[in-house]
Amino acid sequence: MIKLENISFDHCIKCTVCTIYCPVARVTHLYPGPKQSGPDTERLRIKNPELLDVSLKYCSNCKRCEIACPSDVKIADIIQTAKWRYSKKELRIRDFLLSRTDLMGTFGTLFSAIVNFFTHLGMVKYFLDVIFKIPSGRTFPNYASGTFTKWFKSVRKYQDNYADKVIYFHGCYVNYNYPQLGKDVVKVVNALGKGVIITKEKCCGVPLIANGYIKKAQSHGRHNIKVLSSALPDDKTKIVSASSSCTLALKHEYPNLLELDNSPIINNITYITQFILEEFEKGNILRLKPLSYTVAYHSPCHLERMGSAAFTIELLRKIPALTVKILHSECCGISGTYGFKNEYYGISQSVGNELFRIIDEAKPDFVVTDCETCKWQIEMNTKYKVIHPISLLAEAIE
Ligand code: SF4
Ligand code: SF4
Repeated sequence: MIKLENISFDHCIKCTVCTIYCPVARVTHLYPGPKQSGPDTERLRIKNPELLDVSLKYCSNCKRCEIACPSDVKIADIIQTAKWRYSKKELRIRDFLLSRTDLMGTFGTLFSAIVNFFTHLGMVKYFLDVIFKIPSGRTFPNYASGTFTKWFKSVRKYQDNYADKVIYFHGCYVNYNYPQLGKDVVKVVNALGKGVIITKEKCCGVPLIANGYIKKAQSHGRHNIKVLSSALPDDKTKIVSASSSCTLALKHEYPNLLELDNSPIINNITYITQFILEEFEKGNILRLKPLSYTVAYHSPCHLERMGSAAFTIELLRKIPALTVKILHSECCGISGTYGFKNEYYGISQSVGNELFRIIDEAKPDFVVTDCETCKWQIEMNTKYKVIHPISLLAEAIE
């Protein structure tokens, strides 16, 4: 039966704006675009699932079509749902491994020196390409030698010194690949006079959704809603995340894609730069020292979908002496695990080309962005280092 909340396709006015804004349809004739793969063919699929047009697999779930749509059609959600609801299920070892970030992260951090060495070897990349269809041109992110949660145990007792607390959803990237970002979040939140709480969270579910493991993503979602809501001391405490995709999952994907009730936490979830700016507005302002850099800011698609890129830009502008060049809004092309698959790699690279060109043209000291996978894609394709806005803020704190 069609649920009332899932008929946003019926609001489509056929303007085609979404297709113009779709970065995938722009670079390949293999994908007809969001209008056709979304609202146009949803009616057919509902009538007869056999009429599924498999070209919808090329959608990367970047959500830029949803940003552009004047009728608030949940185009990307319709396409993602159709992918797992009507497509034939295939077990692929590669997709299984790419989606199990907690499993791979636990193993990767335990044996980080060995894993990091081997995943950069040309011969290993060749075999991954031939056997698992993971493109040999793709650079893998390194694993850290210890997790963020392990480090946090050493500072947990100091967090009780603060009367006000913030719950921090750190995500897999901070836990297994780059704990320094989590340490920077703790530094900034503490500098605002608040303690940090972390919970026994699981992966937010974004890679599971992207690879079709919907039941597993729902189970992660239910777990996260439970642990986060149980940790809330009151209605006003914020749940912050420094990952744009994790925040989007908690706020948007849980109810819209996974059909989970996230009402116990929805009003508390805030992207971290919004939370900090709101503190500034209340008069809780950080003393910041000048940073004489020129940075190019790239706004990630999922942050734009939430309308939160403006908060990051505003926050960067608060750092004295920092020159911020706002890059034209472009998709970097990686879209999580999409750019880690042979069948989409060429598209992923073509999508990102315009962004790589404008970064080179801006000639910054480094690039700033909120998304970990955008960072991997930009660092692989340009000569620039990519920094998270919170790490820059942590550096500016006196
Ligand atoms: S932008 Fe929205 S209203 Fe316009 S064609 Fe696309 S889905 Fe329909
Ligand atoms: S989510 Fe991105 S790739 Fe998919 S249809 Fe929308 S704009 Fe295109």
